[in-house]
Formats: sequence, C-alpha cells, structure tokens
Amino acid sequence: MIEDKNQSRTQLEALGEFGLIDHLTQAFKITQESTIKGIGDDAAVLDFADKQLVVTTDLLVEGVHFDLSYMPLKHLGYKAIMVNLSDVFAMNAKASQVTVSIAVSNRFPLEALEALYAGIKTATDLYNVDLIGGDTTSSTSGLLISVTAIGQVSKQDVVYRNGAKPNDLLVVTGDLGGAYMGLQVLEREKAVFKVNPNNQPDLEPYTYIVERQLKPEARKDIPVLLKELGVKPTAMIDISDGLSSEILHICKESGVGCDLYENKIPLDPQVITTCEEFQLDSTTVALNGGEDYELLFTISQEDFPKIKGNPNFTVIGYITEASAGAHLVTRADTKIALKAQGWKSFEK
Ligand code: ADP
Ligand code: MG
Repeated sequence: MIEDKNQSRTQLEALGEFGLIDHLTQAFKITQESTIKGIGDDAAVLDFADKQLVVTTDLLVEGVHFDLSYMPLKHLGYKAIMVNLSDVFAMNAKASQVTVSIAVSNRFPLEALEALYAGIKTATDLYNVDLIGGDTTSSTSGLLISVTAIGQVSKQDVVYRNGAKPNDLLVVTGDLGGAYMGLQVLEREKAVFKVNPNNQPDLEPYTYIVERQLKPEARKDIPVLLKELGVKPTAMIDISDGLSSEILHICKESGVGCDLYENKIPLDPQVITTCEEFQLDSTTVALNGGEDYELLFTISQEDFPKIKGNPNFTVIGYITEASAGAHLVTRADTKIALKAQGWKSFEK
C-alpha cells in the first residue's frame, strides 16, 4: 500500500555496525539537564538530584505489534516512543530520556532505518526527551524495536495503580476506540489492495481514527494539567489494552470494585459512524480495542469541582467496595460484569 518502488536501497553492511549507529543517531542532541552523558560511552550517565526515577520498557515485534504493509516506518518510530512515554505519564511523571534498541534483518536497507529514526527524532523533539543510547543487532526475521523510557517525579506526586478508594470518581482523558477502528479501516484497505493493487484507498472519511492508530500521542499534558488544577489522582494507568482491562487493573491493585456507565464513555463521532459501517458495537470497541494511549484515573469526590467542565476529562463511573465487583452499567440500566479481553498479541 505504501511501498515506493523507486526508493534507493543502501545495504546495511556498507556502513558496518558503528557507522550505522553514528549515522542514525548523529542528529540527536542532548537537551535535558539530567543527562550527563548520552550516546557514545559504555553506558549513559544521568543525574536526577532529589527526584524519584520512573523506568519502563516495551518491546515491539513485526507481525505481532505492527504490520509494515500499512505502518510507515516513520510512524512506527514515533509510535514506539509514544507507547513508552505514555507509561511514564501514567505514573504522573515527566519523561526525560529514552533508549532505543533495534534488531533488523538484511531485508531492511539503510533508508528504512533512516525513516524509523526520523519518526523517533520527531517524537523526541516534540516531547522533549533525550535519546541516550540503545543497542543495534541483526535479526533473522523481521524488525524488533525495544524502547526504554526514563522519567522523573517527586515523591509526593507519584501515582500508582493501587490507591483507588470506594466513592472515588473514575475519569478518562480524550476519547476511546479510535485506534482500534483505525486499525479495522487499514486492515480492510490492505485486503482490498491485495486483490487490486491499482486501487487507491480513500482514507479521507477516516483521517482521525487512522491517525489515532498510526500516530498516537501520549498525554504529556495531563500530569502538568492535574498539577495546575491541584488534583492528585488516587490511582492512574494508561489505556494501552482497552478500557475494560485497565479498569480491572486498578480495581485489582486497589482492592476495589467499580460501576462504569456505558452512556458516559467518550466516543468521537468518527468512531461511532465507522462502528456502524463495520457493524461493531462502539462500547465493545472502547472496552476492548486498546492502543488509545489516553489516561484513566481515579480522584476523590472532593476534587470533582476542579475537573468539572474541563474538555480533557470525562467522568465515566465511580469506585465501589471490592465485594460489589466491577460492572458496566448499560444504557438499558442493566449491570454486566467487566471482562478483560485486552490486546490480542498472544492470540492466534
Ligand atoms: P556496546 O558495545 O557497549 O554495547 P555499542 O557499540 O552497542 O556499545 O553502542 C555504542 C553507543 O551507541 C552506546 O552509547 C549505545 O548506547 C549507542 N547505541 C547503540 N545502538 C543504538 C541505537 N540503535 N540507537 C541509539 N543509540 C545506540
Ligand atoms: Mg551494544
């Protein structure tokens, strides 16, 4: 779908490992005060003074987490960074450094890795984090990317999954289900393209959801906004696997239950129309779709006036005693137990 037959192909062997690392990382500059030493030694050196460190890693595997037939490499590089920064923000922390490790098969020319690193560069520039190292090796099949993100947070600001209390409000940022519906559209276009390679996909009606899938944004703004509003969530998690699974994580870790209201789940109009077109239930999509990289958190009721009316936040339910269980309250006012279907990387 996005393959360009005329692109030049420089074999990776032409540069050698060290030449390749230099080539891919030369454009990256250190900007964070906490980075003492970045790329170029045996290890990076960081100094966080009195802050607590937040460290998180994700591994992305071709054919499992991404499909290069519709995922441009530049977007993949960007998304690999976002996935990790999102975990840092979910701790209510500020992200400051990343490492990027790649394993590549000889199927990839230098130009492919340049595109990948262009996406990584855009992300690190925009989110103001330093690329401070990584590792580069070969793979016998496909591409693997592992990103580690490092952040900082003061002791009194850190938010875990385990602090939700009965009567707390359940709040979500942004809207849900877009990334999953974007993936449905891209999968459909891929199938059409296989049958008729001359067919040019018209993605115009789906721009928002396709962007949610290909170019997600981690919610860097939320920890900052919460601080400004004087709200410290009692628990927080990012939405990578779908609302249902994330709510259940908070409930399990906090030892509580919850009532989630179906009619409160925020959906973009494009998600609703595309769900109709694909004959999918939009609630199911929001609950199980995943990859939205929004934040889900709980706040004490006292803090409600501080977030009320803010377009970034939607109150979608409240926390109950553990004995009440975790439920979806449907539009028809019936209660259904929440199940974690989650992201299907282990399904075949
Ligand atoms: P070592 O042999 O100690 O593992 P390398 O030769 O692999 O060192 O790496 C040299 C430097 O380049 C190190 O600072 C390392 O963190 C960095 N580096 C290696 N691969 C990458 C990559 N893909 N992206 C960013 N930095 C990298
Ligand atoms: Mg190495």
